[in-house]
Amino acid sequence: AFRPSARVARIRESPSTLAANRVRELRAAGTPIIDLTIGEPDFDTPRNVKDAGIAAIEAGRTKYTAVNGTPELRAAIRARMLRASGIEFDDASIAVGGGGKQVIYMAFAATLDPGDEVIVPSPYWVSYPDMVLANDGTPVIVDTAEATGFKLTPEALRAAITPRTRWVVVNAPGNPTGAVYTRAEIEGLVEVLEAFPDVWVLADEIYDEIGFTGRPFVPFVAAAGRVRDRVLTVNGVSKSYAMTGWRLGYGVGAPGLVRAINILQSQSSSCPSSVSQAAAVVALTGDQSFITESVARYRSRRDLAVDRFGEIDGLRPIVPDGGFYVFVDCSGLIGRRTAGGTVLTSDQDVTMWLLDEARVAVIQGAAYGSDAFFRTSIATSEEQIEAGARAIAEAVATLA
Ligand code: PLP
Repeated sequence: AFRPSARVARIRESPSTLAANRVRELRAAGTPIIDLTIGEPDFDTPRNVKDAGIAAIEAGRTKYTAVNGTPELRAAIRARMLRASGIEFDDASIAVGGGGKQVIYMAFAATLDPGDEVIVPSPYWVSYPDMVLANDGTPVIVDTAEATGFKLTPEALRAAITPRTRWVVVNAPGNPTGAVYTRAEIEGLVEVLEAFPDVWVLADEIYDEIGFTGRPFVPFVAAAGRVRDRVLTVNGVSKSYAMTGWRLGYGVGAPGLVRAINILQSQSSSCPSSVSQAAAVVALTGDQSFITESVARYRSRRDLAVDRFGEIDGLRPIVPDGGFYVFVDCSGLIGRRTAGGTVLTSDQDVTMWLLDEARVAVIQGAAYGSDAFFRTSIATSEEQIEAGARAIAEAVATLA
């Protein structure tokens, strides 16, 4: 019989993938479902970007590229990093991969030995702990508090660092809470890190363009001062340019680390798709009006979702500063009795009940390391958000 490796046996399939599969099955069986689990833009890839991909195919740019991408892509990433952080990076600082996700995976694979620890603030994007485990590391989950905006504090960081700590993950805007760190908050973390020269920062800024505060986003590396050389910034084109299926992301950091990542990349996928690289160049350097327009839409959807969910007895949405999720406190539903007579005892119960009763799919907070919440997505139409909230309100009205 088939026996998976210990590596695979240690991890679980992504809860987002599982939720998406469940929605697909129910729909295939004829049950209409309002899907609020989606982790990708509902917008189409911008026209100019699609054209760049098509042109690359027509021009025969369909062969392997350098492991660290085409010169044009590296130049586009350097320009983007300069624009965002004010820092000039060189080519030796850039790694590219099949999505930001693959770059994060490779960064852990390139640095972790058994027993090495990675600090992951919770609520977290579902993949970090499993990616650490898959690469022999130990995730150290550090709970954040709503009072600090679900952000890691210097005190909590300090308390979690041990001699085995290799990385701290800082994801902003955060998935699932939408938390965004101010420059002062980053500087507070940096002050702690100055005393621990072996601890590196994985700054996952894949949602950096999607912000609602009206203030410019501060990349971690831009405020990192003396620890700047220990920051790996991860980004990509998936979220900002509605290019999730193109699979193109990048990491920018110290040349030694980047060299290690590139060695792994040379022995795993060789390079990301040449066609996607050509499209990403145009995404990063071309007309940026898609971002302005899509962020305006996300902002009005956020406001709508926060209003509608906030009106429902027992629910309390957390207002996100960026990204495209609304994390909802559902502790007010826990302990209540359904029309069928069962008591909702956890966010998992609430999520399953919403699927059965309201025909609305959301993802339980436990998947993000946070009980008594569920995550909804605003990467869907206003109509779907309205319909989802209405269906949830009707279901909640049946609870005793
Ligand atoms: N980081 C976070 C926080 C995410 O939510 C995602 C996607 O869901 C990614 C990284 C990976 O994005 P991609 O691999 O498409 O670049």
